[in-house]
Amino acid sequence: MRDPTLLLRRATRRAKSDVANKLVSMFLHELSRKMSQDWAIRVEGIEYGDLVRKWFNSQCPYCGRSLEDREAIIEHLDGMNRYRVGLHVPGNVLVACKDCNLKKRADDALKELSLADSGWASFLSHDGTRCATGCPTCGYWKGVWPEVTERKLRLSESVKRIRSFRREFPEFERALPHLRSTLPGLLTKLYSDCQRFAKDEIASLLERFNRISAAANLQPRGVSPGISRFQPLPHPLWDGVEAHRVNATSTRELHWSSAGHPEKIAHRASCWTSWIR
Ligand SMILES: [Zn+2]
Ligand SMILES: [Zn+2]
Repeated sequence: MRDPTLLLRRATRRAKSDVANKLVSMFLHELSRKMSQDWAIRVEGIEYGDLVRKWFNSQCPYCGRSLEDREAIIEHLDGMNRYRVGLHVPGNVLVACKDCNLKKRADDALKELSLADSGWASFLSHDGTRCATGCPTCGYWKGVWPEVTERKLRLSESVKRIRSFRREFPEFERALPHLRSTLPGLLTKLYSDCQRFAKDEIASLLERFNRISAAANLQPRGVSPGISRFQPLPHPLWDGVEAHRVNATSTRELHWSSAGHPEKIAHRASCWTSWIR
């Protein structure tokens, strides 16, 4: 079994990255809307669905297996992250099998690609002859096509089919070089800023929470179940005062009584009331 401490630490780190990645994704979706608003064809339109069906015939664009008997998922050829800077626009959105979608993420997450110039082409380049032994993506394709000649042939067919499909969308093809040259730097800055913001805000909120908790320590035992564990701290006004709650229908309606020191009791009651509001 894997070390649970390590898993917990990783999960904690990932929580912050998830916020930053979400922001990057939101930016790319917004840019997609703005860029494609005047295009003749739309992702959600019938015409686009027909084109995707024509090109891929209800098969996964990567492995070619039928999507009718496999779990299918919306796929972006160029992944929508800070490295691949893909958009949710015609020419980049497809339907793929879930297995390919999950495996392709390994290439999409790389800052620099060595096998091809895009995440999808890189994913289809793991033919088992170009990577170090033990490459998980090469292992995936070996599982789909064990025989090397067939594997290389089928992978290169998928590359050609996707390239031809892309040519149907000249607006996106024209925009791609500019997106790839400008967005990774800008989005990496957005990602780092977001992580820094999350770290600072969490630290600041923790500090505020600690201050509030320290103030709550002034409350006496037995005021209410939620705050009963706090001990009263010394205060010059309260010395010698034994106050207790005698009649309260809610924490906002406290009534206090004491054998003496009515002015101190009044002050103290107003403090309680303001703290617990
Ligand atoms: Zn597939
Ligand atoms: Zn490989």
